[in-house]
Amino acid sequence: MNYIKERNELIITLKNKGITSEKVLNAIAKVPREIFVTDKYIDKAYDDISLPLFLNQTISQPYTVAKMTELLDTFANCEVLEIGTGSGYQACILAELGCNVFSIERISELNAYARIRIEKLGYNIQLKVGDGTLGWNNTKKFDRIIITAAAPAIPETLLSILKPNGILVIPVGNRDKQEMTKIIKTETNNLTIEKHNFFKFVPLIGKEGWK
Ligand code: SAM
Repeated sequence: MNYIKERNELIITLKNKGITSEKVLNAIAKVPREIFVTDKYIDKAYDDISLPLFLNQTISQPYTVAKMTELLDTFANCEVLEIGTGSGYQACILAELGCNVFSIERISELNAYARIRIEKLGYNIQLKVGDGTLGWNNTKKFDRIIITAAAPAIPETLLSILKPNGILVIPVGNRDKQEMTKIIKTETNNLTIEKHNFFKFVPLIGKEGWK
């Protein structure tokens, strides 16, 4: 099964929900979501819903992936840090957009699950197991940072590794609902904050997340 019809219908759904970026819609039209969902849910791969992976984790709803990617406003060859690799789907959308993607996941089984799928599709994405609230390593800074798990507050470390003119997108709130928050760091390192609607994510667990 090639899922072309289902993927096209998903694009129409995303447009109807307000996604306007053609490049984001094109990336979603290209990356096969059926590869990233578990066998049990393959018939729902193009429904606009989040789906269970394992170990209580999820692959995000396509609308959420599209909205966060649109807010991230990427450019060719920008360096993007993703916290919460999960299935690897969001990372592949960013790679499809021409970003250099670094993605970190705290659960090693999910890192392995994502790695197999990313390699199968041929994307060049750096993957790592660890606590993403602490960044990639001690020194590396990024043009864009996307956190795909629910944070109680914006991790200070992640703000510190965002380059000038950088953008960080993160859902912030309590365990039940989070406000999608976009932080723009100016050339002179000032921060502007935008809030966009409420979502529900699994928790960001780590030193600068939930305990
Ligand atoms: N982006 C994923 C995708 O495309 O499938 C969905 C991510 S899922 C909603 C959130 C992920 O964040 C989970 O896999 C969870 O294990 C991971 N996570 C939670 N806290 C983390 C942390 N401190 N560092 C790295 N990953 C974390």
